[in-house]
Amino acid sequence: MIRFEQVSVTYDGASGPAVAGVDLTVPEGELCLVVGPSGTGKSTLLGAVSGLVPHFTGGVLTGRVTVAGHDTRTHRPRELAHVVGTVGQDPLAHFVTDTVEDELAYGMESIGLAPDVMRRRVEETLDLLGLADLRDRPIGTLSGGQQQRVAIGSVLTVHPRVLVLDEPTSALDPAAAEEVLAVLQRLVHDLGTTVLMAEHRLERVVQYADQVVLLPGGGAAPVSGPPAEVMAL
Ligand code: ADP
Ligand code: ADP
Repeated sequence: MIRFEQVSVTYDGASGPAVAGVDLTVPEGELCLVVGPSGTGKSTLLGAVSGLVPHFTGGVLTGRVTVAGHDTRTHRPRELAHVVGTVGQDPLAHFVTDTVEDELAYGMESIGLAPDVMRRRVEETLDLLGLADLRDRPIGTLSGGQQQRVAIGSVLTVHPRVLVLDEPTSALDPAAAEEVLAVLQRLVHDLGTTVLMAEHRLERVVQYADQVVLLPGGGAAPVSGPPAEVMAL
């Protein structure tokens, strides 16, 4: 579902590549965790999948990244929005409307679905993420974990095949982080969504991962494999 072939990214003015020599395959329906110290290129790797890198960041991407067969360098991020949903650390940065229900509907507005399909998808997503009781709530009155579930829901209504999450629990307390991780686990198992996630709370998420990619930094190529193997390094 996601494939990196000999990928390197060098930002403008940088002395060396932010990531280099990345070869990686994430099969459909798997959860792949991206780990490594700060500054080793986790966000860069994720951005290359959503198309933010290099379209919005500048710099040069060499090699090839494909998502469901789409080359992320030749497709604009908008064109990839059907395929890849992206959620960042700060749910508040993500929101454009006032209430939970409006936010879930908003993501679909640019893809031209019939009104009854949109309504059905909002209902389905409210149920999936346990948000039905909160549908009319202003987003600003929700807890961090609830907000992050809304952010995830707003990209899920598009039915993306791949979900990219950049440290989705880093702004959350442990209980809220648990809430979000439980939702992700359900997505992978019940809907077969492919998930690529950067995360530093390893002890919480490694149990759910099918594959771990470790970015060592210093220009070295990442190491990837089954969690137990990579974590033993
Ligand atoms: P991580 O997510 O692991 O913290 P990043 O991918 O954010 O790592 O950053 C990797 C390196 O690339 C860092 O040295 C960072 O300063 C640099 N970098 C990240 N984004 C940009 C950008 N848009 N322009 C220039 N340099 C960047
Ligand atoms: P509709 O257009 O009526 O929403 P679709 O054919 O697009 O119908 O998909 C409906 C099916 O997709 C349902 O079985 C539903 O459970 C499932 N589904 C729900 N959420 C997602 C998702 N995020 N990704 C993929 N499939 C999903």
